Amino acid sequence: MDKREANIMAKQPWQMVRNDWTDYKASCLCADILAGRGPWEVDKLGYHVDHVRQAYEAGLPVPAEVLADYTNERPHWRPPASKWFVSVAGDLCNTEDINCRPVRRGYAVHHAQINTARELAATLRAGEFAWPGGYRLAFITEDGELLCFKCARENFAQIARAIKDRAGDGWRIVATTNLGEQDPDEQAETCANCYAVLLPAAE
Ligand SMILES: [Zn+2]
Repeated sequence: MDKREANIMAKQPWQMVRNDWTDYKASCLCADILAGRGPWEVDKLGYHVDHVRQAYEAGLPVPAEVLADYTNERPHWRPPASKWFVSVAGDLCNTEDINCRPVRRGYAVHHAQINTARELAATLRAGEFAWPGGYRLAFITEDGELLCFKCARENFAQIARAIKDRAGDGWRIVATTNLGEQDPDEQAETCANCYAVLLPAAE
């Protein structure tokens, strides 16, 4: 697989321009034929226009160069419910800005080290799961305990104050940890506040 092809594969259909999609579909067709499957398998991939339309109407950050392939169709599409979207890079953007300049960079991004309330907020917005992999994330407090995303969200004001004051009251979050990269212990890992099991014990 050449570099360009690898690049195409890593994208969602709605992130590819129509020409790249056609190439991608053709390569799938070749693979089907070589593998002795019928060329009909490739039909399961659907139509590019449908992928792009669905993503656009769902408010996903469809790249401008992809939308440019559908200038005739676009007036018939439902506009996204919100003009705000979070780009793949985690920046907050406005769909009405044709140049897609981020309004706020780092709006929803996972931070491994948390030094400010802003970094905590961005990590919370980016969600409880790491992609790729879908592993669960949790926070580590300065006294080495775990806090789940739910508790961090519910106690945000208190935690933000603890971060600012560099407090030693157990609420100060200092880092984000990926529980999927952790080897299970004999003891389950639980949230220090709500006792939810975040990582079950080893068998
Ligand atoms: Zn919790």
